[in-house]
Amino acid sequence: MSDSESAREVGRRVVLRGVARLLALGVVATTLAPTLAIADAPTDESKAEGGLTKRPPNLVVIYADDLGYGDLGCYGHPTIATPHLDRMARQGQRWTSFYSAACVCTPSRAALMTGRLPVRSGMCDDRRRVLFPDSAGGIPADELTLAELLASAGYHCGCIGKWHLGHLPQYLPTSNGFHEYLGIPYSNDMDRVAESGLGRAIFKQPRVEYWNVPLMRDTTVIERPADQTTITRRYTDEAVRFIRENREGPFFLYLAHNMPHVPLFRSPDFVDHSRRGLYGDVIEEIDASVGRVLDALVDAGIDDRTLVVFSSDNGPWLIFDELGGSAGPLRGGKGGTFEGGMREPGLFWWPGTIDPGVVHELGSTLDILPTAAALAGIPLPDDLVLDGVDLSPVLLGSGASPRQTMFYYRGTKLYAVRHGAFKAHFVTQPEYGPGGAEEHDPPLLYQLEHDPGERYDVAENFPEVIDAIASLVREHRQGLAVAPSQLSAKLPAE
Ligand code: MG
Repeated sequence: MSDSESAREVGRRVVLRGVARLLALGVVATTLAPTLAIADAPTDESKAEGGLTKRPPNLVVIYADDLGYGDLGCYGHPTIATPHLDRMARQGQRWTSFYSAACVCTPSRAALMTGRLPVRSGMCDDRRRVLFPDSAGGIPADELTLAELLASAGYHCGCIGKWHLGHLPQYLPTSNGFHEYLGIPYSNDMDRVAESGLGRAIFKQPRVEYWNVPLMRDTTVIERPADQTTITRRYTDEAVRFIRENREGPFFLYLAHNMPHVPLFRSPDFVDHSRRGLYGDVIEEIDASVGRVLDALVDAGIDDRTLVVFSSDNGPWLIFDELGGSAGPLRGGKGGTFEGGMREPGLFWWPGTIDPGVVHELGSTLDILPTAAALAGIPLPDDLVLDGVDLSPVLLGSGASPRQTMFYYRGTKLYAVRHGAFKAHFVTQPEYGPGGAEEHDPPLLYQLEHDPGERYDVAENFPEVIDAIASLVREHRQGLAVAPSQLSAKLPAE
């Protein structure tokens, strides 16, 4: 892309965002934004051909933090009880190859919110892998967020919970398409108070005052430290209120729990709730929260026009032993590019519309933006470079997943690629701690349907698969414009 083309693209995106913001504020009539074609937004509730509802459906995305592939009953955990998530799986779709686009918090959330790999937005970095309270950066203004897209078509957008795409005013949810926000703007283990004197043991005896994290309402800090012992319950109360108040729709609710990221906290009602101990208590409270959200939709009579998605930002944080979750049969966890770091539960629930079952095809949180756009009938800007694909054919039972390939990045570097059932690791590295990156030529090759634990390298037997994947990598790199890091800059010391 030439400089002038690049400038034009940025200019266009900025105009689009500006329109979205004005629409969110009610300043511009929808007919003034013809490029978004929102004047044609259908309001008829009847079903169109192909099963799509003409009336734009509500969207609820429930996102856990550091929850592993193996942590739910419906994904095989033996002692964590998740009846409400199991109900989502039974009544909807349970995906077995659903991926976050990164193995740590900030980049995976950026990917969900933009439908783009974090290298394109600068929301990843090889040294500072996530944003911190002293970070100066955040999601760039020229990125089109899922909330901006849906707000442009008249959706009311609410964000509850962990944001982690920048805590300065210009980066907060309310500057990125959301009309309202309540939450801790970054990870719940940040702003750590040194005086606890416990070192690593602080996580085994967590107390609210050890982490001076803020709870924000829109752009204002309303509590500090946030009382994390009730945070899951209060996020859920807020979600239920949001659903009731916006029952006429359409709305987009992004409910991003801070749990089960360490330090682990749960409400008094969930103490000693689970056979799995503290971590299980936390998951079972999240499950109860899911139950309250589903019930609120049913009670409001809008469950038949609401798509609910459940997933997690990255795999379990294994260095915390019992305080971390489980990737089940998968290898590795948070921070790495083996399956346990990025393959996640993926549940889709929309009674009466979704085609129930277990889906073994590939999907990703990258796909939520284009899928939501398709379901709502919102055209995407022609010049928007997306890594996500529209999964609505699978959800509606009308076709196959367009996703054949998944790219696994660690920071700004491509480490592995899955294509079909095969995954090639060009580089491997321990998730955390000592041990640097190790390059592999030929790459390690695993057949994931036969060997989900990535134990048996079959590279020797499938040279043609390696060639095909190498060719996909070349093609991917040719079209890739790597953006400058948003994660490296720090605020001046106070
Ligand atoms: Mg996380």
